[in-house]
Order: sequence, then structure tokens, then C-alpha cells
Amino acid sequence: NSVPHIELNSGHSIPQLGFGVFLVDPADTQRVVEDALEVGYRHIDTATGYNNETQVGAAIKASGIRREEIFVTTKLLNDDHKAGDVAGAFSRSLDMLGLDYLDLYLIHWPMPKNERFVETWRQFEGFKSDGRAKSIGVSNFLVPHLETLMAETDVVPDVNQVELHPAFQQRELRDFQAKHGIRTEAWGPLGQGKYELFTLPAIADVAAAHDVTPAQVVLRWHVQTGNIVIPKSTRRERMAENFDIFGFELSADEMNAIDALDENRRVGGHPEDIN
Ligand code: NAD
Repeated sequence: NSVPHIELNSGHSIPQLGFGVFLVDPADTQRVVEDALEVGYRHIDTATGYNNETQVGAAIKASGIRREEIFVTTKLLNDDHKAGDVAGAFSRSLDMLGLDYLDLYLIHWPMPKNERFVETWRQFEGFKSDGRAKSIGVSNFLVPHLETLMAETDVVPDVNQVELHPAFQQRELRDFQAKHGIRTEAWGPLGQGKYELFTLPAIADVAAAHDVTPAQVVLRWHVQTGNIVIPKSTRRERMAENFDIFGFELSADEMNAIDALDENRRVGGHPEDIN
């Protein structure tokens, strides 16, 4: 099983498939992340807001895997962003994770009404130039937010991590990002289990035809679309299932049928509303 790597603007590369830990209870997180690393994941996506950075760091340490073999992402807490305590927040994340650098640091939400993300991004540029963040990016940014950032700062974000799944495919944003080399990272790639996705014929019938599961079809669709994808599960057998998506390929017709499921329907918060 070899996960493809995607080249970033920074010159570093990111494993296209990673493991997310949103809503993983801190008490379970070390075990869950150790399982994910044993299954083979080498890319972990956390956030200060998930309250489990310490346990993610403990799992990395306990795994004995060399630091440079694991890609670690965390995200600036909205409250710290709002308060302008960006440098403090970044240092605290490194401390909690027990790391001396991050592979990727993200602005978790643009919080446009606070009008701080440009100034915050300038500090992110500093973390990149001092080497403590190999790559820097954003999350939940809309096209106008990206345009503002690119007009007013020097470094183009390496990624934008956004809600993306078959009912909400973000075509316009993806096209814009492709033009600027901003990689699209999909959160909630399985729709967060919030709508009936796995029983749709475009998913279920294709799964049966390839002798794989519906979740594997959806994740394979992400990979063939070019998305970086970070599914979450606390169950080891599902972690393994979600990791095992490189032994089959969806045909152009099968891809088109999933493309046709787009309803422009979010299951999570709207970036303009979170401030
Ligand atoms: P997801 O789409 O990965 O769905 C997770 C849920 O899907 C699980 O709780 C489980 O019930 C189900 N599931 C997982 N594997 C399955 C399988 N093989 N078969 C059947 N059901 C399965 O949703 P998510 O966890 O919200 O998103 C993934 C990651 O994205 C998060 O863990 C987090 O790291 C990141 N994220 C980021 C933001 C952001 O604002 N940047 C927001 C939400 C999530």
C-alpha cells in the first residue's frame, strides 16, 4: 500500500491520505492514533480546538516512527486568532504535540468579521521562514478570502482545507485553487455520517462491482479527483478499510456518476457565520 504524495507550493509534499481526529475523545486519542500509525497512516490532522494535541504527540512518540516520516497538521484556535495571540498559540501547539516543527499549520476559520486573517497570515509567513512550520495554509476560506490574502501578503497558502464530499463538491473553489497551486484538502470526506451517502446507487452499486465498501468508493473518488483526504474513525477495522483504497480504480463513468451527486449542500458551518 503506497499512499501518493502531493507536491505543495512550499516544495514539501503531503501524503494524499491522512487520518483526522476531530471529536476523538482525548482519553481515546493516544490509542486511536497509535492504531492509525500501525495501520499505516503517516499523516495526522488535528487542531488546538480538538483538545487532543497532547495525546496525538504522545502517540507519535510511543510509535517509535521517525519524526520526518509522519506529516503532522494542526490549526490555530479561533479564540487565539481573535485575540491576536498567534505566536503564543503556535508555541503552545508545538509544546503540546512535543514537536519542534509542524509539517502544516492552518488558520482554522477565516472569521471574516474579525478582519484579522491578513495580519495572522503574516505571522504564519514568519513561522514558515523560521522553519517551525514547513508548510502553511488555511481552512474554510472562500474565494474572496483567498483573493484578499493573495493581494495583501507574500506567500500563497499551500492548502485550503474545506468541507468536501459528494453532496458538496466545491467545484468553483477547486478550479480557483488549481490556478494558484493551492491544494484542496477535504474535511468531512464521508459527509461526517450526516446524510445517507453509502446507499446511493452511484456509490453502493459501484462498491459491489469492485468488491469494496461504499466508504472506500467515496474515498477513492476523492483521491482520483485530486483531493487530499483525511477520514476519521476510532475503529481500527474502519481505519484499515479507509486506508485500503489504492488497489482498485473507478472508471470515468463511475467518476461522472459520483460527480453528478453534487447538491451544493453543506453539512457543517458556513465560513461567513463563524466569527
Ligand atoms: P468524516 O467524513 O471523516 O466522517 C467521520 C464519520 O464517518 C465517523 O465518525 C464514522 O461514523 C464514519 N465512518 C468513518 N469511516 C467509515 C467507514 N469505513 N464506514 C462507515 N462509516 C465510516 O468526518 P470528520 O471526522 O468530520 O472529517 C475528517 C477530518 O477532517 C476530521 O477528523 C478533522 O481532522 C478534519 N475536519 C476539519 C474541519 C475544519 O474546520 N478544518 C472540520 C471538520 C473536520
